[in-house]
Amino acid sequence: MLDSKETQYALQEMGKMFPNATTSLIADSDYHFLLAVILSAQTTDKAVNKVTPLLFERYKYPIDMANADPKEVAEYIKTIGLYKNKAKYLVECSKMLVENFNSVVPKTHKELMSLSGVGRKTADVVLAERFGVPAFAVDTHVHRISKRLAIVPEDATVRETEKILMSKVPKEDWIKSHHRMIFWGRYQCMARAPKCETCPLLEICQEGQKRIK
Ligand code: SF4
Repeated sequence: MLDSKETQYALQEMGKMFPNATTSLIADSDYHFLLAVILSAQTTDKAVNKVTPLLFERYKYPIDMANADPKEVAEYIKTIGLYKNKAKYLVECSKMLVENFNSVVPKTHKELMSLSGVGRKTADVVLAERFGVPAFAVDTHVHRISKRLAIVPEDATVRETEKILMSKVPKEDWIKSHHRMIFWGRYQCMARAPKCETCPLLEICQEGQKRIK
């Protein structure tokens, strides 16, 4: 297992390759960012960014979507996975924002997670990106890379991975480390064909060493 120092070294190397790693979701307000993160579950940010310009133009504020029929909302997002359920979440979440939070996206974990369609990861991403609250959101890339690099045990759950990362990485680096790991997962250590032969972390990565044998 990589210790704290080695984990931070790995993250520094990722940062050298992807110095500008940041969120790819495009949104012009906290509300629209929240919607974009809900939409991004089990689909790519690229696919989300394709549908959101028209969606956001039509539903500018929570009240606009709170009064919408989910079927109408679904028409705007039908090119992305699970769009029917996501349309329901968006409408329900907007209603709750209007009714419980005066149409303002809340800034605490507990309040965010009380909204329809908002799980732990979505809350983490919104808090980190919009409000600068340190969080280490664990998505599919972060989880896979943490295991491949043996930062966490092979059988770690998402929650365990989050806790271990938070213990091995200084709090001030959580947000940027999350972005670096996502870029690493997208462009260097992909799920199916990681580029182990040219990887600067090969020396400390047993998984990579196994793969190139
Ligand atoms: Fe991923 Fe391979 Fe690099 Fe290990 S050596 S981090 S498996 S790309």
